[in-house]
Amino acid sequence: MNPETRVVVIGGGVVGCSVLYHLTKAGWSDVTLVERLDLAAGSSWHAAGSIHTHNGNVYLVDLQRYTVELYPELERVSGQDCGIYMTGGLQLANSPEWMDWLRMVHARGRYLGMENELISASEAAEMFPLMDASLFVGALWDRHEGRVDPTGVTRAYAKAAEVGGATVVRNTRVDALSQRPDGTWDVRTDRGDIHAEHVVNAGGLWGREVGRMVDLELPLLAMAHQYIVTEPVPAVAEHRRTTGKELPMVVDFGGEIYMREEAGGVLLGTYEQDHRPWSPKVTPWTFGSELLQPEIDRIAPELEVGFTHFPVLADVGLRNIVHGPFVFAPDGNPCIGPVKGLRNYWLAVGVMAGFCQAGGVGLALANWMTEGDPGMDIWAMDVSRFGDWATMAYTNAKVREHYSRRFKITFPNEELPAGRPLHTSPLYDRYTAANAVWGASFGLEVALWFQEPGREPIEDITFRRSNAFRVVAEECAAVRNGVGITETSGFSKFRVEGEGAAAWLDRLLTNRIPPPGRITLSPMLNHGGRLIGDLTVANLERYFLLFGSGIAEDYYMRRFLWDLPENGEVRVEPLGQRLVGLSIAGPRSRDVLEAVADQSVGPEDLRFMDIRAMDIGMIPALVGRLTFTGDLGYEIWVGPENLRGLYHLLRKAGGEHGMRDFGLRALDSLRLEKGFGSWAAEYRPIYGPAEAGLSRFVALDKGDFVGRDAAVREREEGPVRRLVTMVVDAADADVVGDEPVWHDGRVVGWVTSGGYAHTVERSVALGYVPTELTDPDAPLEIEIIGDLRAASVQPAPLFDPGGTRMRG
Ligand SMILES: Cc1cc2nc3c(=O)[nH]c(=O)nc-3n(C[C@H](O)[C@H](O)[C@H](O)COP(=O)(O)OP(=O)(O)OC[C@H]3O[C@@H](n4cnc5c(N)ncnc54)[C@H](O)[C@@H]3O)c2cc1C
Repeated sequence: MNPETRVVVIGGGVVGCSVLYHLTKAGWSDVTLVERLDLAAGSSWHAAGSIHTHNGNVYLVDLQRYTVELYPELERVSGQDCGIYMTGGLQLANSPEWMDWLRMVHARGRYLGMENELISASEAAEMFPLMDASLFVGALWDRHEGRVDPTGVTRAYAKAAEVGGATVVRNTRVDALSQRPDGTWDVRTDRGDIHAEHVVNAGGLWGREVGRMVDLELPLLAMAHQYIVTEPVPAVAEHRRTTGKELPMVVDFGGEIYMREEAGGVLLGTYEQDHRPWSPKVTPWTFGSELLQPEIDRIAPELEVGFTHFPVLADVGLRNIVHGPFVFAPDGNPCIGPVKGLRNYWLAVGVMAGFCQAGGVGLALANWMTEGDPGMDIWAMDVSRFGDWATMAYTNAKVREHYSRRFKITFPNEELPAGRPLHTSPLYDRYTAANAVWGASFGLEVALWFQEPGREPIEDITFRRSNAFRVVAEECAAVRNGVGITETSGFSKFRVEGEGAAAWLDRLLTNRIPPPGRITLSPMLNHGGRLIGDLTVANLERYFLLFGSGIAEDYYMRRFLWDLPENGEVRVEPLGQRLVGLSIAGPRSRDVLEAVADQSVGPEDLRFMDIRAMDIGMIPALVGRLTFTGDLGYEIWVGPENLRGLYHLLRKAGGEHGMRDFGLRALDSLRLEKGFGSWAAEYRPIYGPAEAGLSRFVALDKGDFVGRDAAVREREEGPVRRLVTMVVDAADADVVGDEPVWHDGRVVGWVTSGGYAHTVERSVALGYVPTELTDPDAPLEIEIIGDLRAASVQPAPLFDPGGTRMRG
């Protein structure tokens, strides 16, 4: 064991071995993996070995495809057999809703370049004769599915890494980690210490324990999972004999079952409703390469459905039951990346489908470690999507919910109930009394819309327009015709101060730092000139306030701390729920504010993008003149102790102007008709500012800033695609994001978000299309639940194109 190395990867499961391999591929050869037993000794050895690209997130679909396509390379480099067998796979729909869902998956697959195909139930039965076709509606065929040998793959990653210069140390346990002042690590093992620049936690089932070595409580929970292997099935042999092929992989959503051929029989696993977390608080170090006792009763209801859907299985004996634990994060996606405020400590944990995902995880993490950026959009698996609010109890509730819903549809307007309410603002009870329909964002309850009095505050879950449609239209009308009020406490907010603050922000952000009393919008870029932030900067003279998307609070904070000078001349503090706010918007909003403010807020005294401290009644507040509605409006920020008082004051003053509460759904509709993009939809790390239409916020002439060279190049070369607003000839369903955009029989772009713009009464989609197709006359089509709907680019905002309302 070498006592000095650049990286120690802790854990020799499929994930740690992939990270090790990708580090060597990225050019770091002085890297070491430490495994307490043998490779694959955690979850990896007993996996079913199925590989596929199924994921609700398009970016992860792409990374899973990368993983699946990596295996031949891995065999070549390592010389190790991975047992790859690409059978293709079928996802079976047993209801019209599941068929709609498959249509959406199929459409999404088109712009990702996936080769999948919608087929009838009888066509599916020709490929998989074990099923009773009469019980299904249709299926999706996907070429990128098959199986691998889990231990072979894990060893292949390790061997390929060794070929690249890495060292693999077995039978050695990491017991403790301590960081030196220079940020490097002393890694204490039961066979001596190793000094390393970086450590990677790829501890799998022990990911929490390796987190606790640096006082991190990670949002991870292992679930006990079972699959059965049957005795040989005559129909399987018959299929082999007639086709010469193995059966395809199958997912049967109705039965909550996945299945594949195994040694002449079938391997059948289920995400059972009667599920069990495994070792919910601590994973014992004594747990070795072992299985749990079979608990067949718990999966009996799912097996019963399976025997109906696949009748030949009812008469076949069981050969084996595999029952083992594997780890999930609250939303079922991996947790990777650096950790806020912790130098040189990296995570590659929570990977619940290692044989589908480990390649992508390894690639992204290795890029991040060697280049300072993952080089792709990995938001869906970035650990920073969870804040400190994702406690052990929250994680337990959410993981169990996710596990039991693994083969259930989550509708685009669906808000899942587990682990809620968690954080609530001081207006929670008031809004609940006003019949708010609640959603959750970054742990905080947020009002989506306000149901009419006397009706249940519940939104129908659907792919189409819901019961919210008419009410949200009224909320939008209240804003556009008078004044509306909404809560803004869910934004992320940061206080930046110190003598170096202005210079630091100037280098980090693309726009000029605003003068005192003013606000600017400013993207943040990585060195490659891609968008890694979309911030509002307010200059309060003695300090700056930065506002951004609420879900990105930890993501931004991690970035700020990463870039912070060590001399202490800049201080950054996330304000969380210590600064909360309300926004009033609409043509009457100035009248309302005028009635309660202690100073004039006339058009010359509080101009568009001004910010001032003032008293609202007796409440000290910061008032900025801007809103995301694109209307005349204000954001009013106060301490939480004053939020209720502020709300009552504004409601009272707004009474004579017909003030109405509006929620996030209305805000989304209002921003769409202005063509305003939002973080994690239109603005993501795969886009440059020119293609995202943000060039006006990139001051190339202000001096150097992070990403400037790349931004100059992007502007000089001209973007090949652009963010546009499209008007869609929709029927009863609007886009939800990730739909393909067609032109002339080809998929040319994709939708990032959209919905119904109520004031202008149009169905709207924002998305990226090739620059040459941004002409409003270019005929486009957008695929919504299997239907191609005519669409055209809208050259100017649909509402108030001159911006006179918000500037007036
Ligand atoms: C029944 C079952 C079926 C499954 N089927 C599939 C499937 O078909 N397809 C699929 O993609 N996935 C499947 N999975 C999931 C898959 O097994 C996991 O996603 C994967 O194994 C996770 O790999 P890992 O490397 O993160 O964790 P692990 O395999 O748990 O590896 C972690 C390793 O770290 C080591 N370690 C931990 N702490 C230390 C320390 N302090 N010092 C040294 N070493 C340490 C452990 O010994 C272990 O070897 C299945 C899981 C189960 C339980």
